[in-house]
Amino acid sequence: MSQPRSLEPDLESTKTRLESLDKAHLWHPFTQMQGWQRSQPLIIERAEGCYLYDLEGRRYLDGVSSLWVTTHGHRTPELDAAIRHQLDRVAHTTLLGLTHAPAIELAAKLVQLAPPGLTRVFYSDAGSTAVEVALKIAFQYWRQRPDPRPRKTKFVHLRESYHGDTVGAVSVGGIELFHEIYRPLLFEALTAPEPHCYRCPLKLERPTCGMACAEELGRVLADQADDIAAVIIEPIMMGAAGMLAQPEGYVRRVRELCTQHDVLLICDEVATGFGRTGWMFACEAEGIAPDLLCIAKGLTGGYLPLAATLATETIYAAFLGEAGDFKTFFHGHTYTGNPLACAAALANLALFEQNNTLQHVRAIANYLAEQMDRLRPLRLVGDIRQRGLMVGIELVADRATRTPFPPEQLVGYHVTNRCRDYGVLLRPLGNVIVLMPPLAVSTAQIDELIDALQTVLTEIE
Ligand code: PLP
Repeated sequence: MSQPRSLEPDLESTKTRLESLDKAHLWHPFTQMQGWQRSQPLIIERAEGCYLYDLEGRRYLDGVSSLWVTTHGHRTPELDAAIRHQLDRVAHTTLLGLTHAPAIELAAKLVQLAPPGLTRVFYSDAGSTAVEVALKIAFQYWRQRPDPRPRKTKFVHLRESYHGDTVGAVSVGGIELFHEIYRPLLFEALTAPEPHCYRCPLKLERPTCGMACAEELGRVLADQADDIAAVIIEPIMMGAAGMLAQPEGYVRRVRELCTQHDVLLICDEVATGFGRTGWMFACEAEGIAPDLLCIAKGLTGGYLPLAATLATETIYAAFLGEAGDFKTFFHGHTYTGNPLACAAALANLALFEQNNTLQHVRAIANYLAEQMDRLRPLRLVGDIRQRGLMVGIELVADRATRTPFPPEQLVGYHVTNRCRDYGVLLRPLGNVIVLMPPLAVSTAQIDELIDALQTVLTEIE
């Protein structure tokens, strides 16, 4: 970590002013603001590559890719240039009744990169809206297809799932802490057990379990397929659920079950998409294609808010008709398909090819796995789950009983706050430490990350 420069008097007053204005007016997401008032907020001033810098010039390794979005690094020259180039033309113009080159080129590129059969791209602005769009499209599709099945209105999600914070997305979410309070506001969804081998909800063990969690989902579909529009999953790794890595073959089995029972499969790749798992899309790891694919986060390389929902031609066709048929998809946000964001996304995707990013992610993920062997023997480390550069380190009070440490799950904050002192920014999910560095992270930076964690976890032991 670089040493802080001493604060100049005007810098000191800037810091004090920003801190007091923040505390006076800013309501931070997923944050208990009472505690925030007592905290000393870290004010980020600038960034470069895999590092963020605070007002005093202190450098921090961005261990969570600024909430799982950064691909080639902060201030990547090609992305900066693409946005500037687009800024000289038009910053925003609507896709309602008009169109523009960046949105068109990007849609074509996404179709080329996506799993086969996904031919249509509907833009929105965030992962949550990409999920909302998928839910609404699935619902409307069954009403409008040539042989309508209007009873098919329900959705199935995995019990610990997280698909975003808007009301529809929360309805298909199951994290008690985030979702329970809103339950009366939500539509009712069906659930199936999450595939979580370290804490199997069915109290079974791999491999003798026969992937009973998938078969339970199969039973829900078999019982109620006539009422079910779609199943929504995050393929191969459930992120916000606590970095739950699915057993190999799970996603393939879910795809088979959905096809068998004539239910749509929505893959939410908001977190797993764009190289994060070592595949452009995690579905590819299992050789499957969903009927609807939700993408956001890494789409613009971590620069601008943009999301999309990709659909098959069959789904799209169900929305075609004359104006009076009212088959239109009545949905669209003001900034949908924003040209600056589309330009950033195009530059981001071009760099994936230019830099062989997927190859780099696979190599660096192997290196990360080796380095994490240093953490495995530590008393607090219960489980390490990894898919590419998406990692969860679950901390336990007792490795034998797997009791989360501590039950209030505050240790994560303690560990990650302490990591800051060693120049590494991390953010926990309960008792799980999340490692999601930018895809461009180097071996030296992985060392920095693991050194900091090893030091902090050893201190606590
Ligand atoms: N879906 C998944 C799998 C996510 O991880 C997230 C965010 O973390 C979302 C949806 C929601 O995305 P956003 O925060 O951009 O609305």
